[in-house]
This record gives sequence, C-alpha cells and structure tokens, in this order.
Amino acid sequence: MLHMSLKFLLRTFGCQMNHADSEKITMLLRQAGASRVVEAADADVVILNTCSVRQKGEDRVFGYLREVRKLSEAQGRRIFTGITGCMTRKTGMAPRHYDAENARKNARTITMLGSPDSIFNHDDPLFARSGDIDFIFRIEETAYLGRILSAITGTDIGADDRYEDYLRLRQSRDDPGSANIIVQTGCDNFCTFCIVPYTRGREISRSMDEIEAEAREAVASGAKQIMLLGQNVNSYGKETRKKRWNPESLTWWASEQKTPFRELLDRLDAIDGLERIRYTSSNPHDMTPDILDAPFDLSGVCESLHFALQSGSDAVLHRMNRKHTYADFRAQVRYLRERDPFFGVTTDIIVGFPGETEAEFAQTVRAFEECEFDFAYIARYSERRGTLAQKQYTDDIPADEKARRWDILNSLLKHTIQKRNALMIGRTEHVLIEKMNDTTASGRTRNFKEVFFEVGADVRIGSLVPVKITAVDGWVLRGERR
Ligand code: SF4
Repeated sequence: MLHMSLKFLLRTFGCQMNHADSEKITMLLRQAGASRVVEAADADVVILNTCSVRQKGEDRVFGYLREVRKLSEAQGRRIFTGITGCMTRKTGMAPRHYDAENARKNARTITMLGSPDSIFNHDDPLFARSGDIDFIFRIEETAYLGRILSAITGTDIGADDRYEDYLRLRQSRDDPGSANIIVQTGCDNFCTFCIVPYTRGREISRSMDEIEAEAREAVASGAKQIMLLGQNVNSYGKETRKKRWNPESLTWWASEQKTPFRELLDRLDAIDGLERIRYTSSNPHDMTPDILDAPFDLSGVCESLHFALQSGSDAVLHRMNRKHTYADFRAQVRYLRERDPFFGVTTDIIVGFPGETEAEFAQTVRAFEECEFDFAYIARYSERRGTLAQKQYTDDIPADEKARRWDILNSLLKHTIQKRNALMIGRTEHVLIEKMNDTTASGRTRNFKEVFFEVGADVRIGSLVPVKITAVDGWVLRGERR
C-alpha cells in the first residue's frame, strides 16, 4: 500500500455532541497524516456527521451527497463520501469496494461490529437509500475509520488501534477558550419521537479520572471553559450505581451520597484556572437537588441550564414516553430562579406531536408564560423512520397547523427573551469571547446571554473580559468593555 496525504472535508450537522465527535474524527485523521480542507473541490474524502432529529436534516445530507457526486463527475475523479452520526446504524462499506462474497453475513442487529474484519459489511439501510455513499461508520467505531479509508483508497491511511475506545479518543479543539469533553454517550430513555437510543445505543459513561485528566490538559493549554457533553449528562455514572438509582424518587442520594454527576462537578471545580463549567443536555426526570445546587455551591459551575421540557401537557409527555411531568419541570425552574433571578434556562419543545389537541398546545403556551425561557429550540414534529412514535401514532397535525403553533411560541419566546434580556442592562458581566473581527467581539455571560461589544487588538478569542450591558438588540445584548 502507498502512503498518501489524504485531504478530508468534514461537515457537521446537528448538536454540540456531533461537533465534539467531529473534533475527535479530526484529531484521529490529523494524527494519521491527513489534512483538513474547507471546500469539497479540494477533498479526497467528504465525511458528513449527521443529525436525524428532523427530516430536513436528513434531506440536506442526501442533497449534499448528490452535490459531491456532481462535483466528482465535473472534476473527472472520485471524491469518496462517508456518513457517520445519528443517521447511521452499522459500520461498513459499499459492496463496490470489496468482494461481497467475503462480507460479514450475519450483522443484522444493531450492535457494534466488534472486529476490524467486520468493516466488510453493508447492512446499514442507508446504503440502499443512496448509491453515492462509499462508507458508513458508527461514531463509537471511529477507530475503524483509518482501515476503511485504507481499503477504499488503496493507500495506507494509518489505522491506529489505540483509538479503540471512542470515548477516550482526544479531540482537536476548534475553540481555544472552551473545550468540549464528552462524558457520556447513548440513551436508555426511549422517548417515542427519538432515534438516538437505536443509533447511539445504551448509556455509557466515561471514568471520572479520565474526564478530569482531559479537563486538566485542556486548562493547561489555555481553555477557560469546559463544556461537558452527553445525551443525558445528569444521569452520568448511573450504570455504576444501578442498584441504588431510582429516577422516580429524588431521595436516594440525600443521605451523604452525592449523584455521580455532582461528584464529577465537584472534582472539576477544584481545577485551578478553570473558570467555567457548563453541561448539556440534561433530562428533568434525572435532575436531583444536588445537581441543581451545584451553580450555587461551586464557583466554576455557570448559572444556566439547558433541559428539555418538550411539551407543557402531561398527556403529550406521556405519549412521548417522557418521564417527567410539567409540574416537575416547573418546580425545578422555580427553584433555580428563586435562588438567582438571572439564572438562564433554555429548553427544547416539539409542537404538533401526534394527537396534540388545541387544549394540550395551550398548556405549552402556559408553560412558556410561566417559565419565561431565556431561549427555546422549537421544533415542528416530523416523523422519524424507526421510532416508536412512527409505529404507534399517526402524524395527524397538518403542516400549516404545526407552523401556526410554532409561530405562536416563537412570538412568545421573542417577547420573553427581550424582557429577560432587559433585566441585564446596567450589569457588568464577564464575557468569554467566542467570535471576533477587527472591531467587534461576541461571547457569552455566565448565564449564557450572547453579548456584542467593541474591542481593540489586546484581546483574542478565549479572553474573558468585563463588559457593561447597555442595550437589548433583538435576541442578543450590546455592551461596552469596562
Ligand atoms: S432522552 Fe429522549 S430525546 Fe433525549 S436522547 Fe434519549 S430518547 Fe432521545
């Protein structure tokens, strides 16, 4: 085999977890000698890290695959395309890249392939949906990427078995001020609208020692903020304490024992030089008082929380197989805002879930009025292939009715955001710079408000600077540097 300097383009769709996964893929490929490019026209391989939360996201992936094929034809060379992330179920390659006679024959269930030889497999249903896909890998099987690329390109891409455990694979950080650290992956909750438990598998948590070591390394190389990522970060570690875990009751930890996630926060908070700890995503039914108290007990944990309500109606929540009620959620929001009125609360909502009546939707409207969210990701329900909701319910809310409900919530949200942002005027907040040009920078306060302000040449991305908030500007804030 030849050794080749592979050029890859990596496009990421969806949530922060996918962005963190892309940082891991980038690190692996860079360590194998490959270089990252920003245009498909310059790439040997295009990898799409996908999201399956909405149909639109999947449509964009198939559209992009077609674009790459046309580009390949126009350039008279093959640009290979691969898929990973939440649309994928099984690692493998299109049969045109190997002798299908020798392919793995029995990889029918949704499990890891388990051995490098198993990459000769084409069971993932995506292969049948697009002839443009050359390879697929489950994100947990990123370790096989080098082998797959070597097989497809006929050159030695530098497969490295050290990376067998995906959670231990280090990331190539895009943001110098903030480090994404994946603490947990997979999900045991099986919300009826969601495909994640099938694509990412059951919950697995990393060891605290490993997470702490990675956080210390990130801080030593300049990170001021750590973002802990996972599908259910606040149930981190539960499989190690299964016998004592009771998600129905928030009491088991109350003796002397803290939840594993709170223990993790305590350990990270003790790291010198680490200014901010954030985490996402959390579930209301896994929330415990010790985690809710962390921002008030620990100086590093930020005063903001993202956790998904999904609907203000208990009947809809039941059909979604969510394990909380609206009253549970509201009690947690009230607790946080009573302790700190500026506490930032953001959430996810789905409108137009099957059977959602006008009265049920009105309960979500009431939830928006009562909880006064600082931001909400509002999605119109779209049926996802393979989910329980697709099997059990009819997608019976017309598209224009979903749009109407979305508009109502969006208008309410805009009003709430402006009201809550106005409370910030006159306060001086430390802002961690995320973006900047020659004159203007933007970043977040501890309670996750986005602030724009003028800067000189003495700051850079990753700097923490005091800013006096002077005005509300649409969805964001304006300020002056102190
Ligand atoms: S908690 Fe529900 S929505 Fe979140 S990843 Fe798990 S199944 Fe999906």
